[in-house]
Amino acid sequence: MALNEFDIIRTYFAPLSVSAPEAFQLTDDAALLNIPDNQTLVCTKDALTEGVHFFPGEDSYRLAQKLLGVNLSDLAAMGASPLAYLLALHLPQNTTAQWFEGFSHGFKDYTAQYGGTLIGGDTTTYSGPLCLSLTALGTVPKGQALLRQGAKPGDSIYVSGTIGDSHAGLRYIKDTLTELPKLSASQSEYITQRYHIHTPRLALGTALLGVATSCIDISDGLLADLGHLCNCSKTGAIIYPHLVPLSEAALASHIPMLELMGGGDDYELLFTIPQKNETILQQIAPPHIPLTKIGQMTDTAPPHIMLVDAQGKKITLPNKKGYLHQAGL
Ligand code: ADP
Ligand code: MG
Repeated sequence: MALNEFDIIRTYFAPLSVSAPEAFQLTDDAALLNIPDNQTLVCTKDALTEGVHFFPGEDSYRLAQKLLGVNLSDLAAMGASPLAYLLALHLPQNTTAQWFEGFSHGFKDYTAQYGGTLIGGDTTTYSGPLCLSLTALGTVPKGQALLRQGAKPGDSIYVSGTIGDSHAGLRYIKDTLTELPKLSASQSEYITQRYHIHTPRLALGTALLGVATSCIDISDGLLADLGHLCNCSKTGAIIYPHLVPLSEAALASHIPMLELMGGGDDYELLFTIPQKNETILQQIAPPHIPLTKIGQMTDTAPPHIMLVDAQGKKITLPNKKGYLHQAGL
């Protein structure tokens, strides 16, 4: 790599830190972070490794957005607002200036849209695959964060957006949709985008503060993540698969509903609402984010999830392997 570590930090990353003066333009050993007394700091980290979480040769602009997206979805699930980021890059020795150019632009554009400032990190080169790790810091009013625990039997279960698009997009990219109907150009473009670019539901997360009893972001698949929420809340759940919202493109793919509910990378929010709050939910929901009721929490032992069809008949759940996140690409 012709650029040394300090050139990289000065040229590509220091400009991303200018709105946080306490980051000293990335020239000191560490950044300082002050948060208001009435706020709690919310901290999360997610890493992406080439060949595991993204295809080798992936466009660096899109990669920056993917890295931010997976982290911001966790902040959204806690009801937090983004504040700052720490970025660790483990780079193959042949990483080019063009790669940094794309990555820093992707980072800048995405944070301009969703908030938060780069305040530090670490940059190393080695002979292994590209590995990116981000720590995202956010704030939430003290005592108000949305947790996975807190759902009560009888609460309604809602999801934002549509489910399974990213899974359909990955199948399309890997060309395993051949036995399924051919999608139109706009449908395949839509599911591919949903796989590559995540839309963290930050505005929804903040709107749900004081309204939802629990919340999780769907990254491993709707059924798997609902299982995590049930475990933490010590509840069971009934889900009505015919109510689960699908995009026109996912519907047209004819991928079975149970597979879409088991696919990962939706980055939508799944949350529970007590009946008394259901009427205000539609008023506080940010515009353009569809919210759909798909079931109720029950008092059965966690994580007992029952699927019931439109005729009221029980559907047999897929075995664990069928809906756990499949590691790798
Ligand atoms: P040290 O050797 O003391 O850890 P570094 O040379 O690693 O210092 O980092 C110098 C400064 O640059 C620090 O403020 C660090 O947070 C920042 N920095 C290094 N790499 C990155 C990066 N990839 N993104 C953002 N900031 C970075
Ligand atoms: Mg360092």
